[in-house]
Amino acid sequence: MVVKVWGARGSVPCPGPRTVKYGGNTSCVEVRCAGHRIVLDGGTGIRELGHAMAAEPLGPVDVLLTHFHLDHIAGLPFWAPAYTPGNSIVFRAARLQQTFGLREILHKMMSPPLFPIPLDEFRADVRFEDFSCGAEFEPAPGVRVMTRPLNHPGGACGYRISHAGRSVAYVTDTEHVPGTDDSNVIDLMRGADLAFYDSTYSEAELPAHAGWGHSTWEEAVRLAGIAGVETLVLFHHDPRHDDADLDRIGDQAAQARPGTVVAREGEEFRL
Ligand SMILES: [Zn+2]
Ligand SMILES: [Zn+2]
Repeated sequence: MVVKVWGARGSVPCPGPRTVKYGGNTSCVEVRCAGHRIVLDGGTGIRELGHAMAAEPLGPVDVLLTHFHLDHIAGLPFWAPAYTPGNSIVFRAARLQQTFGLREILHKMMSPPLFPIPLDEFRADVRFEDFSCGAEFEPAPGVRVMTRPLNHPGGACGYRISHAGRSVAYVTDTEHVPGTDDSNVIDLMRGADLAFYDSTYSEAELPAHAGWGHSTWEEAVRLAGIAGVETLVLFHHDPRHDDADLDRIGDQAAQARPGTVVAREGEEFRL
């Protein structure tokens, strides 16, 4: 299983000289296993992934969306593989609190006056699949996906992908309730080789952002300990945190839990 980070930010892209090291693109993580590709979220990081995918023959791809906040879908209209005939792509998202299905939501985003190119211009063989959060499915033989609801305004869906005894958890856009253990999050992270977790804030910053739907790196460390995660990856960085801030957070987190890393655009993990 090969896992690569294409965008590690939350909320809004923040390119510039102060964010060169960890990157400024929003959420997108690629998982490759069993000849299959799974893309977690379609934030602005997916655009560069599209260029990398164009360089080689593309097998089947599943795009799993956590929810529809713009930082998780804004890259999709710029994702070249969707416009390329012959590619086979399945978009999947949970029916959360919205009344519209996945296809309709993307159609709305890719409609004038918001965007000039309609969804119908996707020339790949594209399918849109809504599921009920909590469902499990097998996008390719031997590749298992577990889903669980997260605590976020409008809802969000966390994922765990398992293959051949390895697993990666993708838990982003969730707010913890202090003093409680979120059993959905622990289910997703339990014994995972790699776990991405919403570390937008520090505990000191959280009170000013209560109810915004995000968590802290300290909670990430705490939950990873309970769940017995092998490698914890702090993810969905606050755009106000520059490289120096993230270096400092990374040092503190690695002291609290050795082996913890701060997600960095371009970083690859082999499980
Ligand atoms: Zn987000
Ligand atoms: Zn969100």
